[in-house]
Amino acid sequence: MSQRLFRGSIGWDLQELIFPKERTMQIEILGAESLGVRGLCTVVRTKDRKVVIDPGVALGFRRHGLLPHPVQAVASERTRRLIEKALEDATDIVISHFHGDHHPLVDANPYQLSIERVAKFCVRPRLWTKETKDLSYNQAYRAKALANRLGRTLPVADGMSDGQLTFSLPVPHGRKDGRSGSVMMTRVEDNGEVFVHASDIQMLGDEAIRQIIAWQPNIVIASGPPIYLPSLTFDEQENALRRTLQLAKRVDTLILDHHLMRSRKGEKWLNYVSSLSQHKVICAADFMGCRRNLLEADRRLYYKRLPVPQGWHEAYARGEIDVLSDWFNKVR
Ligand SMILES: [Zn+2]
Repeated sequence: MSQRLFRGSIGWDLQELIFPKERTMQIEILGAESLGVRGLCTVVRTKDRKVVIDPGVALGFRRHGLLPHPVQAVASERTRRLIEKALEDATDIVISHFHGDHHPLVDANPYQLSIERVAKFCVRPRLWTKETKDLSYNQAYRAKALANRLGRTLPVADGMSDGQLTFSLPVPHGRKDGRSGSVMMTRVEDNGEVFVHASDIQMLGDEAIRQIIAWQPNIVIASGPPIYLPSLTFDEQENALRRTLQLAKRVDTLILDHHLMRSRKGEKWLNYVSSLSQHKVICAADFMGCRRNLLEADRRLYYKRLPVPQGWHEAYARGEIDVLSDWFNKVR
């Protein structure tokens, strides 16, 4: 029996037991570290809307001293195509903040999503974007460049509501130290189901968790703690665990990915948390029913297994390589 049946008044619960509501919300995660790329792009379809949240993708530009492996470029290209397709008939586009893995870019590197590929799909949908006042110079610059390219102002959505959509006030992008900036979280409600996209909170602050719980979601996607970073202290990790368990018991499904799944250690942390919780704590690949594909975590391994020809990155950057036909068959 679903946890949500215990919420609200007894009368409401009984009514739902007798006349179950038709579920109309569909959630699809297009990109995340467990799906082989950096990002948290998610599509939420409701009865009336198709909301594309954070339509961006990136690959860690340098990890372990190595540029992205071609199999990662395959995953990036696949995600870019999925995002293009998703934007074709989107009614709403949400940008939680202006990091290069969360929105199309005017100056994309070869592994990111260039605005040139999707600008024509960004003309009609309603835009909901994070305000830039409290963001870094680089983020504000990217936002301005995007607005100029689209010939549209990027309306500030922080704290706003529009029918099925609600946006949070800014919450910290990870640590509350002021240097990492902030993100905007999105709540979508449809037919009694509530989904929250919490973006890059990394489970490192209580403020975001309080807001998510207050929104009473059934399902949440968020970035998990950056276990791959040596700077993450033991205390921060312990507090992230406490927050994760606190949130997990209030929702049916908690999807943690992004920063968390950049290392195999992060994956172990997810499995451990999952074993402690009565509720579902999973990654994006689990949610989508795919095999976990932690390409960034395994980058060194891929370089050993499938050596990269000299000059490959330069040729790829010049657009001389069709990565899908060259490398697709080498990827399981
Ligand atoms: Zn991010």
